[in-house]
Amino acid sequence: MTEFEPTRRALLAGAAMAGAATATGTAFAQDSSDNGGDPLTRQAADFPKPPYPKQQQPWPGLAQKMEPRPDHGEESYRGNGRLRGMRALITGGDSGIGRATAIAFAKEGADVAIAYLPEEEPDAQDVKRVVEDQGRTFAAFPGDLRDQSYTKGLPEKVVQELGGLDILVNNAAYQQWVPGLEELSDEQFDQTMQTNLYAMFWLTKAALPHLNPGASIINTSSTVAADAPEILIDYSMTKSAILSFTRAMAKQLASRGIRVNAVTPGPIWTPLQVAGGQKPENIVDFGANTPAGRAGQPVELAPLYVALADPAFSYSTGQVFGATGGSPQPAG
Ligand code: NAD
Ligand code: MG
Repeated sequence: MTEFEPTRRALLAGAAMAGAATATGTAFAQDSSDNGGDPLTRQAADFPKPPYPKQQQPWPGLAQKMEPRPDHGEESYRGNGRLRGMRALITGGDSGIGRATAIAFAKEGADVAIAYLPEEEPDAQDVKRVVEDQGRTFAAFPGDLRDQSYTKGLPEKVVQELGGLDILVNNAAYQQWVPGLEELSDEQFDQTMQTNLYAMFWLTKAALPHLNPGASIINTSSTVAADAPEILIDYSMTKSAILSFTRAMAKQLASRGIRVNAVTPGPIWTPLQVAGGQKPENIVDFGANTPAGRAGQPVELAPLYVALADPAFSYSTGQVFGATGGSPQPAG
């Protein structure tokens, strides 16, 4: 079982009870040298706003090739040792929200394993550098989550490499827009279900024997779970199902001291969106229709995943936490 530090946990408990947003308020770097001396406004002022440059990549896309480059917290996230000694597996940890989570977890003192597709190796190497710069252990597991034996074998491999498993982040997803149901092929429908649902089911089941009290499972859903866009039929179906899985598993695992929560991001600047996730013409003003008036950057989600992984957040399970730029939180 992982050794969590009791004194630090006790200190953090008060902050965590005040809610995820409050508990995460100090996570961003507060280096006044590059922010005009005002750490509180630096991030909001610096994040890119629409219009974004037109761009498309073949699926699954690389963060390396996006313009502007997404902010995954390589420089901007500052840790406070909240996950010291813990071991995490993050699917889709090479880019986007999963990568920001991997980097933040490492900066909070965790060892990190990521799963990703072999063609995403260049992005995975970037994550490896940042995690190892923190002095943390990094393990890479390239493979296809639709491959049942690969996915079911992941937790055991993580335990071999990292010495245990305390945090599972089911984050990988397949999202391709289609104009209508007639254009939604059986192949795409299968791929979306297999990646977004079957893999989560296989992986969670295979992880359970390794998870001890204090462990946490975090599933990435989406605001589309409650407000499904007409061009994202299959994808939206899976994001609703992820909420049901989260709620049922939370009930099932509460008595074992294992928490299960979900995050619902709004529009976030990641390869998913420029590799077929959105209509190409929608990239230029991506996120402009949120109250924030822009797409979120992956690093802006990281503090939420850290809070949900932190054992101090011990009374929150079966919950759905939004990061939407001010759009309503889905009730779904
Ligand atoms: P991303 O492209 O950076 O991450 C998705 C990852 O899924 C890829 O990096 C890839 O490694 C992985 N993946 C896909 N198919 C796979 C397969 N068959 N085998 C192994 N890995 C596979 O994009 P992201 O936006 O950071 O996506 C992360 C999560 O956030 C997803 O669950 C997505 O649904 C969710 N989300 C994103 C947004 C957004 O606007 N970007 C909004 C709401 C929810
Ligand atoms: Mg990727």
